[in-house]
Amino acid sequence: MIEVKTSQMAMELEDKFGAHNYHPLPVVLAKGKGVFMWDVEGKRYYDFLSAYSAVNQGHCHPRIVNALVEQAQTLELTSRAFYNNVLGVYEKFITEYFGYQRVLPMNSGAEGDETALKLTRKWAYKVKGVPENQAKIICCLNNFHGRTITVISMSSDPDARKDFGPFTPGFVPIPYNDLNALEKALDDPTVAGFLVEPIQGEAGVFVPDEGYLKKAYALCKAKNVLFIADEVQTGIARTGKLLACDWEDVRPDVLILGKALSGGVYPISVVLADDEIMLTIHPGEHGSTFGGNPIAAKVAIAALEVIRDEKLAENAEKMGIIFRDELRKIHSPYIELVRGKGLLNAVVIKPFNGKTAWDVCLKMRDNGLLAKPTHDHIIRFAPPLVINEEQIHEAVEIIKKSLAELS
Ligand code: PLP
Repeated sequence: MIEVKTSQMAMELEDKFGAHNYHPLPVVLAKGKGVFMWDVEGKRYYDFLSAYSAVNQGHCHPRIVNALVEQAQTLELTSRAFYNNVLGVYEKFITEYFGYQRVLPMNSGAEGDETALKLTRKWAYKVKGVPENQAKIICCLNNFHGRTITVISMSSDPDARKDFGPFTPGFVPIPYNDLNALEKALDDPTVAGFLVEPIQGEAGVFVPDEGYLKKAYALCKAKNVLFIADEVQTGIARTGKLLACDWEDVRPDVLILGKALSGGVYPISVVLADDEIMLTIHPGEHGSTFGGNPIAAKVAIAALEVIRDEKLAENAEKMGIIFRDELRKIHSPYIELVRGKGLLNAVVIKPFNGKTAWDVCLKMRDNGLLAKPTHDHIIRFAPPLVINEEQIHEAVEIIKKSLAELS
């Protein structure tokens, strides 16, 4: 195997041999620990993306890594053709942890969403009594639920859709944070579910009005429609509660989790629901070779224990308040708006002097902090939840310095 000796070499390899489906910030990372990552040349950075909120527990958390290593050396994969001695333990643990009767384990967030859509349709036909092939699912404009054909069929982002049609039918898009639109869409008796991100992360950390989720849930209940929460990005302590829905005491009928379910060390997703919904699916109707494998099971248990034992939701809330307060004190022509909840935050950047959010991210990289623009003019700031107050202040200084150097 060739050895990567410089960042330049790593970037050239990716450019030459990889598909060009990403446009990374030019930095090549070689090591991570807690809130920090180091590049090939040994320069240290604050990680303010956390792999899109997968690394909530901090890089290379020893408890999670040990769980992975120990199980990998014992039994890695059986498939679901057989039972194993770990899956049931995990299923009991995670259903009790989140307060649901059943779990269906998958791998990626997109698969979690696909699973939730299939479950919702199945429930519509078997329980609600929607005529065959007529079930509809309401989704929101500017959503992000992943990259599969069905998932992008719900997307309103031209980059996600163009040249990938034809699309899966059965979706009813409505504006996000619009209860009137939801109420109108719910009038159709073939509607089976409403799929929503409690905060729209990829869209630029759009936090809906207070009360939106609670009222949306009540509207769904009044029409016997499932409330499906995609908490792949917002879940697992990121917004200062275990789930972002907890802010409004909403218990989704179908809950999708991914990313931080493994603390970033393994692709793990799940769908949680109660018997009436989950037991509509029978053997052979859905699954995945790797879903809920022994390594994933042990890793997810460890990752969730870390969240609880290290009180990461509480820390996210506390640090988030300090971070937003400090950001709002910065006087810069680039800052249009600061918003967020817990440690899921965004700054809307106003282009100035010909410089954009991308230039701000390059400057922050030079000064030792990594973040990435979403939709050209928004920078998401989402560090690992293990960050402490001193580190928050140091990170804010880097952001301030970078903006000052640019203007
Ligand atoms: N759902 C939400 C809300 C997400 O933010 C993402 C990824 O960013 C996904 C689903 C897709 O997850 P994955 O990339 O693991 O398929």
